[in-house]
Amino acid sequence: MISLKDPTFELRKKFILKYTELVKSFPLIDKIQNREFAFLFWDKDYMVRHRGFSNPQLFLSELKGVAPRHAYLSAALYNSPADKIMSNKGWMGCDFVVDIDSDHMDLSCQKKHDFYICVECDYVSKENITKCPKCEGLIRKQLWLCDECLQASKNEVIKLVDDFLPDFGIIKDNIILNFSGHRGYHIHLREEFIRAMNSEERRQIVDYMTATNFEPDDFFMYKQNIGSFLGSTIDDAGWKGRIANNFLKILNKHDSIESFDLEFGHLDLDAKIKHILFGTDKREHIRNQLLNKNKYWTIRDVGKIGWEKIKKFLLTISKCDIDVPVSIDTHRLIRVQGSIHGKTGFIVKPLDYYEMINFNPLSDPIVFSMDQKKLVKMEITTPKCPEIRIQAEYYGPYTKGEKIDLPEAVGVFLACKGVAILL
Ligand SMILES: [Zn+2]
Ligand SMILES: [Zn+2]
Repeated sequence: MISLKDPTFELRKKFILKYTELVKSFPLIDKIQNREFAFLFWDKDYMVRHRGFSNPQLFLSELKGVAPRHAYLSAALYNSPADKIMSNKGWMGCDFVVDIDSDHMDLSCQKKHDFYICVECDYVSKENITKCPKCEGLIRKQLWLCDECLQASKNEVIKLVDDFLPDFGIIKDNIILNFSGHRGYHIHLREEFIRAMNSEERRQIVDYMTATNFEPDDFFMYKQNIGSFLGSTIDDAGWKGRIANNFLKILNKHDSIESFDLEFGHLDLDAKIKHILFGTDKREHIRNQLLNKNKYWTIRDVGKIGWEKIKKFLLTISKCDIDVPVSIDTHRLIRVQGSIHGKTGFIVKPLDYYEMINFNPLSDPIVFSMDQKKLVKMEITTPKCPEIRIQAEYYGPYTKGEKIDLPEAVGVFLACKGVAILL
């Protein structure tokens, strides 16, 4: 039963209506009979787990019936997915899932749009605090999203798929990709040899992608005796080639410090190094060494310390920023593709690689109405509601107590974010 006192009552009604529509053309779920399902509902703060469905019809009728706030399925396949005891489920293998989410990245936009707000006194902080300094009340994390952080997530996906997966023999046509419905993307790899891997084997892949414990002993070091950096060539395989190619790409792309800073200014590469690499004719010199496949890199005026800084920078931009625990857990639950994300009202959208390139995460996963003739009445409940772009329009910023008429999709977004209520 829906309780009338529930502040999410109106929102939940909208999810019920929307799911009734969505189940009519729901994306197919691979090996549905072998997956565990889990739901988070509106009025319970715990997850209902260990659900199993022997066919898609049963799952869709449940989804339509309960219209959960969040819906998950296991990356793992089981003989008895609904068994409540994990060891009795009969593990058959697990998709390798990569979760890329701007939440884990350090981005300049987050400082503009993320707030930490006291639930008692509305004290607003830009710092990630756990207790209110004024009244000791609990803090609500109000994390936002914008084009910049969504683009950062997309760039990481492109890096993963283009730079790393080919090292494991996986081509872009063989990946399953979903927009997460919030700030990132999920990549599922389903090759049999990958499904059979245990956690430790997965960790080795993850370490490779994230350059964890990366201590090359045969390259990427300054050689004092010859005054050169032993680098690598653009024809080398794996990490060697990746670093040389990325160095060359950056030197090709940026012919001034200003241009470099537009892309990498947030990474605080030493000003002197930036000047040498992008503000003098030494750029051309090192570019030629890379193009000529010389593995010894030499720049006049750059010694051991300078090369260490360049090395650190090249490693930072070359490694992949992924949520590590998701990839190594062989029992992980992950959002159901085609479901609605309860923190945005956006759909978890299946995409192929090429669709992802042109995918617009603040337009394309919108499933609620943008009809200007069917506006919903909203009241803002947070002291700081940042601006949000939904399709072509920007909405907000708003302040507490404001009453506004908004397209349904925008109202649902704000209500899901917990910053407004549908009246
Ligand atoms: Zn407070
Ligand atoms: Zn952002």
